[in-house]
Amino acid sequence: KAQSSGGIAVEVYSGALRGDRGDHLALEQDLRRALETPNSELLLVYQPQVHLDSGEIYGVEALIRWHHPQRGSIPPNRFIPIAEESNLIIRLGEWVLETACHQAQLWEAQGLPPLRVAVNVSGRQFEDPQFYQRLVQILRRFNRKPGALELELTETSLVRDPDTSVRILNQLKALGVSIAIDDFGTGFSSLSYLQRFPFDILKIDRCFVAGIQHHRKNAIITEAVIEMAHKIGLRAIAEGIETPEERTCLQQLGCDQGQGYFFHRPLPALELSQLLRSR
Ligand code: C2E
Ligand code: MG
Ligand code: MG
Ligand code: MG
Repeated sequence: KAQSSGGIAVEVYSGALRGDRGDHLALEQDLRRALETPNSELLLVYQPQVHLDSGEIYGVEALIRWHHPQRGSIPPNRFIPIAEESNLIIRLGEWVLETACHQAQLWEAQGLPPLRVAVNVSGRQFEDPQFYQRLVQILRRFNRKPGALELELTETSLVRDPDTSVRILNQLKALGVSIAIDDFGTGFSSLSYLQRFPFDILKIDRCFVAGIQHHRKNAIITEAVIEMAHKIGLRAIAEGIETPEERTCLQQLGCDQGQGYFFHRPLPALELSQLLRSR
């Protein structure tokens, strides 16, 4: 124990803790500030989702980016959990939804073909009693059809309070929004959730996709998951496709859709519209 090992040890130990906690708090404050002052620190990038056979783009996934003025780019896996620990995730999540819907409206005004936009939603944000109403307001404000919006949720964010989750998902479904289960296969929830939650799309996590052509076991699991998804009426999309071999293998396993660096990296809005126009 640090306490019984003398003054110096205590200093080092609590100093390390304070440092970590301080960094956490500093990031939280900086994020709060970034959200309050609308500037270019926070932005969304958009990764195309494609049909595996033709490469045709049918939708995009919005992914948040944070360019911190001093620290440079901070990845979402670092700051989303910090936002989730405080109520900041509610505001951040709302900003993401507004920005994505606004961008979709701008693309439409530019005459681009209609794109389905997928947005990642945190469990904490999703469980907020105001979530549904706010979402309806945002769709109305930017004149978006619910059918053009997809919400991506993870298993872990839904199983914290399954009854509430089912209720909210059914409301969203009735509204016409599509629901995707993200990172499928990485959580610990039971398969019965697939039957219980009204998902439209199943996203196969990259951990199954990476090098799938060399991993017989991964391929067998993935094929079974795709077949099951299709049989219960879900679309299956593979995440993180980086090579032509992975793409071909996934197609052979029955997967129709995918996203990944092999097709396109996540792109700023302007680059995405240029890409769509060039096709
Ligand atoms: P996710 O939703 O599963 O997103 C997929 C991640 O894989 C993204 O990382 C994406 O940039 C990355 N990716 C795409 N293609 C490839 C590929 O071919 N190879 C590899 N290695 N990676 C690929 P990113 O943008 O760093 O986001 C990480 C996670 O942060 C996301 O995982 C999501 O859980 C969360 N996140 C991102 N944006 C948001 C947001 O706006 N709101 C919320 N709540 N979470 C977000
Ligand atoms: Mg996602
Ligand atoms: Mg994912
Ligand atoms: Mg993920």
